[in-house]
Amino acid sequence: MTIKPLIILPDPLLRQVSQPVERVDSELNQLVDDMLETMYEAPGIGLAAIQVGVPRRLLVIDVAKEGEDRQPLVFINPEIITSSDERSVYEEGCLSIPDYYAEVERPASISVKSIDRHGKEQVTDADGILATCLQHEIDHLNGVLFIDHISRLKREMVIKRFTKAARQKI
Ligand code: ZN
Repeated sequence: MTIKPLIILPDPLLRQVSQPVERVDSELNQLVDDMLETMYEAPGIGLAAIQVGVPRRLLVIDVAKEGEDRQPLVFINPEIITSSDERSVYEEGCLSIPDYYAEVERPASISVKSIDRHGKEQVTDADGILATCLQHEIDHLNGVLFIDHISRLKREMVIKRFTKAARQKI
């Protein structure tokens, strides 16, 4: 397993729309393992393939609490099929926007259709932190970031800060 470098704001890759996975094979499963390892190492609770530079509709999540056993979840070509009118607010962060957190309101529960790492179709009913995390990660597959759900002023401030930091690194 390999820890992959993370793509950081304002890298334009983060705005790219990811393409469907066509085949669930050993190569894809290798990528799944690398993504899980990268997510645990960070540490984070979710990671989309585009965050390691792969524009494919694939994401991994583990929302197990500290001290609990790992519960890795894999979603290939995920699609939200229902979402509740009821909404909830969570403070979100993102491995591609390190050390920045903001409250985001999203549907409180959703159902997601996807394919698992064995190529089998699965439907996941999610609420709580899993619902928020899934929506955050599915957004990544569409080039959307959680800062797109906050005020324009706050968004522009964080983009400016990261753009400046990226320039200083060169
Ligand atoms: Zn993210």
